[in-house]
Amino acid sequence: MSRPGDRYSQLESAIMGGVMRAWRTDGDGHRSLRLEEIPLPVAGAQEALVRVRACGVCRTDLHVTDGDLPAHRSPVTPGHEVVGDVVDVGGEVRELAPGDRVGIAWLRQTCGTCRWCRRGAENLCLASRYTGWDEDGGYAEYAVVPAAYAYRLPDEVPHVQLAPLLCAGIIGYRALRRAMVPPGGRLGIYGFGASAHLTAQIALAQGADVHVLTRDPAARRLALDLGATSAGAADDEPPVQLDSAIVFAPAGELVPVALAALDQGGTLAVAGIHLSHIPGLDYQRHLFRERTLTSVTSNTRADGEELLALAGRIGLRATVTPYPFERAADALHDLSQDKVSGAAVLVMDPN
Ligand SMILES: [Zn+2]
Ligand SMILES: [Zn+2]
Repeated sequence: MSRPGDRYSQLESAIMGGVMRAWRTDGDGHRSLRLEEIPLPVAGAQEALVRVRACGVCRTDLHVTDGDLPAHRSPVTPGHEVVGDVVDVGGEVRELAPGDRVGIAWLRQTCGTCRWCRRGAENLCLASRYTGWDEDGGYAEYAVVPAAYAYRLPDEVPHVQLAPLLCAGIIGYRALRRAMVPPGGRLGIYGFGASAHLTAQIALAQGADVHVLTRDPAARRLALDLGATSAGAADDEPPVQLDSAIVFAPAGELVPVALAALDQGGTLAVAGIHLSHIPGLDYQRHLFRERTLTSVTSNTRADGEELLALAGRIGLRATVTPYPFERAADALHDLSQDKVSGAAVLVMDPN
């Protein structure tokens, strides 16, 4: 097999000795996530090799490592909110060059030919592949990405600020659109972690009245600081009937709670890739009067481009809890215990 990375191997092997550190899981619970030395990845013809600067820690990483999602590759390096610098590109790459600052997100590849891709719904592609699940992700010193799926990132924003935008931000943005908030409408947000706190800022910037419902008192304070009109416990009734709601917590029992809080004609979007069991619904109490229940599945590249542009325009600010790269397992554990304020981000070089 030819090695398209021969140029990079001259460049990088000298520095790295051809190996890098990466967190690997065996898919058997996050306590088994281990920091290992593995061979440096090589950019294929249509890929870029990226030196990782920061990588966000997403709840989906937990679902991958603790087995809520079936293993697609084992061992695998998690992480799909990757901010880094291109250090090498494959021979067919025209859109990126070494030195470019890029983001690597969850949606890694689509087929471009199935009926979903052709109708502009590549998030539903029948052959889609995902970073940190189907291929190694960003809990590592280096990562590769298909060049057509990398996002160009602004140079002036700190790495740790950009990382959470790449999944929490993009998925939240898609969830907000799926929730169909009418102009000036009332939006309920159930659960207030990384994605929710970014989504709330977008909704507020668009003129919505935001009501946050979450069990975590610190998250309720953050919600009010960001401008939410009210913040209550997860199963509280919001002070007004909601036009729209988004369930971010992976808790199926919140679905009937949120549906009951909707006004007639309202829409509930479930943002998670994984949800615990949804209890039985009562037609009159939860659905009648044209309430809509929908889900959010991944995102399109257009969603990502729109979110990144919007983030710059409205000054979207992630509340970040940084962790040194070496503490990735602790970051995942803290996330599993709801001990992270805002978004956890692994930082490669604290300086
Ligand atoms: Zn497709
Ligand atoms: Zn994610």
